[in-house]
Amino acid sequence: MGTKLFTQAKPILEKIEHHGFEAYFVGGSVRDYLMDRPIHDIDITTSATPDEIESIFDKTIPIGKEHGTINVVYEGTNYEVTTFRAESDYVDHRRPNEVYFVRDLKEDLQRRDFTINAIAMDKDFKIYDYFDGQTALQQQIITTVGTPHERFDEDALRILRGVRFQSQLNFTISHHTFEAMQHHIADIEFLSIERIVVELKKLIQGQNVSESYTTLLTLNFFNYVPFFKDLDMKATRINAPISFELWLAILKTIEQSDTPLSSLKISNKEKAKINQYHKLLLEMPKISTKNQLQLFVYDYGASNILDIIDIIPLLKENNIKVASPLIFNYQSIKEINHQLPIESRKALNINGGDILKVVPKKSGPWLKEVLRQIESEVVTHKVSNSKDELLKWVKENVKI
Ligand code: ATP
Ligand code: MG
Repeated sequence: MGTKLFTQAKPILEKIEHHGFEAYFVGGSVRDYLMDRPIHDIDITTSATPDEIESIFDKTIPIGKEHGTINVVYEGTNYEVTTFRAESDYVDHRRPNEVYFVRDLKEDLQRRDFTINAIAMDKDFKIYDYFDGQTALQQQIITTVGTPHERFDEDALRILRGVRFQSQLNFTISHHTFEAMQHHIADIEFLSIERIVVELKKLIQGQNVSESYTTLLTLNFFNYVPFFKDLDMKATRINAPISFELWLAILKTIEQSDTPLSSLKISNKEKAKINQYHKLLLEMPKISTKNQLQLFVYDYGASNILDIIDIIPLLKENNIKVASPLIFNYQSIKEINHQLPIESRKALNINGGDILKVVPKKSGPWLKEVLRQIESEVVTHKVSNSKDELLKWVKENVKI
């Protein structure tokens, strides 16, 4: 797989070295490169302190300076440059707030979670692998750097990260590591929901999610996480990669749950998407005519509906009712979408004011209902979206 991103970032390493410090690529990018998987972002680890990095580069952003991370902006791209560090005492089984900087690469690699994530690579693609990360990559094994009991005791998020890598990479979790996961699972309770959600989003989209979802259930992981702990998680099976929003919509649908999403601390946009999918899943089985389908496509958007069609086997597996494939399929949705006369109410060639001019009635909730009716007439191609036609329809159909 490509070395382009490393080549682009090489001048950063060179510049740091030119000032007398060490710098390496590290973490996911090196792991994915060695596995021939696509690389999405590059992390750099260095012996230079954050202050030193700031003085070496013109454009920097101190995104996590107290933890040693500075963003270096180079030719329009952001690179996370983190100082070699070791971590002091861990409080409450989560990432320590106190870190101290060290000047030795090996010490930095030692504090990393799994051996596959603890490999460094220099600007000439030379590998520094003190913990047999490459062997673990070959054997496709997830195992902690050092004793799993200690590493999970320090930071319980690593348990979830391990399962996340199982899902993304289709690797096996080593026996010892899994045992320690089981032993420390209750410490998940100490973690912030934000950190958990970051990992769950990656896990649920992994190619091996079917197995990893079962791993989470076996670990009783969900019992320790807000929102999920109030649901009967064992009632759901996830046997194919899906988006986080779809997953939550499915959970809501199966559980018929009104558990508020707010405890997940996700964005309003994400919440809206989940609720939209949820409504869509509830409405979909009721569709049996073409006109209903036209309105459905108009209301929910073709792309959301196509997302649902992609996971019909998963929905069936979870006993969620779906519409008949005879009318509800890729082709029909695309065709209807293509022929939709309007995209939203704004595109209607009539508005509340126009209606009030021809109907001698005071404004009120009836107006909204009439607009919805008009929308429905237009979307189902019964009335054309011309002002004259629409006014005519209003005069003939709105009772005074
Ligand atoms: P991705 O490809 O999803 O970015 P990644 O392995 O790069 O995966 P990040 O969350 O970006 O994961 O973290 C970068 C690196 O930092 C990891 O590869 C690992 O070496 C280290 N790391 C991250 N989180 C932890 C943690 N909780 N404990 C120990 N080391 C960690
Ligand atoms: Mg990364």
